[in-house]
Amino acid sequence: MSKSSRKKKETVCPECAGTMKYDRYVRLMVCQRCGLAVTREELDKMRAELRKFAQVEDTEDEKRRSRKEYLDWYLGQKE
Ligand SMILES: [Zn+2]
Repeated sequence: MSKSSRKKKETVCPECAGTMKYDRYVRLMVCQRCGLAVTREELDKMRAELRKFAQVEDTEDEKRRSRKEYLDWYLGQKE
């Protein structure tokens, strides 16, 4: 039997991708790896920002890739 069901409660740190746990005493989400402590609201905001960045990077990568493909094609034509 494979456990394919993911733990939805596991929160990932936006800084280092470590596991974040909710600390009841400070009422913050605390990263177990880098120690980042933020409220859930802040975490949501950071995630939204990261998503924006990720999308931009994806587009940039896409552009770079197609440019390189074109270059390869162009150089291939010459030979
Ligand atoms: Zn972290």
